Amino acid sequence: MFSKNIKSENQQVNLSFLKEYEIELWIKREDLIHTYVSGNKFRKLKYNILEAKHQQKDTLLTFGGAFSNHIVATAVAGNLNGLKTIGIIRGEELGINFSKVIAENSTLRVAHNNGMKFEFIQRDVYRKKSTPSFIKSIKEKLGEFYLIPEGGTNKLAIKGCEEVLTNEDEKFNYICSAIGTGGTIAGLINSTKSHQQVIGFPALKGDFLYDEIKQLVTKTNWSLETEYHFGGYGKFTKELIEFINQFKSDTGILLDPIYTGKMIYGIVDKIKKKQFEKGSKILAIHTGGIQGIDGFNRRLAKKNMDLIQV
Ligand SMILES: *Cc1c(COP(=O)(O)O)cnc(C)c1O
Repeated sequence: MFSKNIKSENQQVNLSFLKEYEIELWIKREDLIHTYVSGNKFRKLKYNILEAKHQQKDTLLTFGGAFSNHIVATAVAGNLNGLKTIGIIRGEELGINFSKVIAENSTLRVAHNNGMKFEFIQRDVYRKKSTPSFIKSIKEKLGEFYLIPEGGTNKLAIKGCEEVLTNEDEKFNYICSAIGTGGTIAGLINSTKSHQQVIGFPALKGDFLYDEIKQLVTKTNWSLETEYHFGGYGKFTKELIEFINQFKSDTGILLDPIYTGKMIYGIVDKIKKKQFEKGSKILAIHTGGIQGIDGFNRRLAKKNMDLIQV
């Protein structure tokens, strides 16, 4: 799956307010790369999996929450590439009622069906998951593995994300992306031309992100919009859900509520506040995350809220 260079389509958004503000908005459909190894997770895994094979490791180990796009992407990509996978999952309680969890949680079910072995750990232990002593203890328990950090961000992940933009994208003067750990936007920044400005939309309250991203990039043509996290990671409002549903019905493009929905909401808001000059050509990266909607809709249903229409 990683042998050829994948280039995803740019799709223009045709909404009447864009004409009014004289803005072009396009979406790069990285979400269509694969149902489970979608968007930036494909990009971030590519060189890590090639490196794992080069090191002759037969197992990938990584970390994540119970609805993690990165966990399911690692499980499926590992399976497709003949590698075993281990997922260290936050939340010891999930392991107690495993069959019920698997029945209800499609993220963990798909990962499980792709052969991923799980270790469910307590939240306070999870916080220490990157310490050498924790890594040593799981090596003693589970054997050798190739380690991929939580969210998949490392040097090789950034290298993969440098392949998202192509020469044809040089006509855009703004490149927009959602941010979790910052790996994706770092790759985007590194591959832009100097006439392009990169705007990141953190999906969480992350004042630390600016400094972290700064360490990963060589250029200064980027900024963050930190007011579109909707309360924090995984948090949402009724307005966000309505926006995602309206956008789908207007454009046919489905956004996820954790990352891309917040980014597109932010872009539309900024356009309407005239924060993009007339004539701007904006390219927003659809980084995927659609697999998480099923689990998210279960949360909405429990609160008796309208669901995201898929
Ligand atoms: C993981 C993820 C992100 C965040 O990517 P980072 O490289 O961690 O910033 C953005 N969008 C989607 C859909 C994701 O799954």
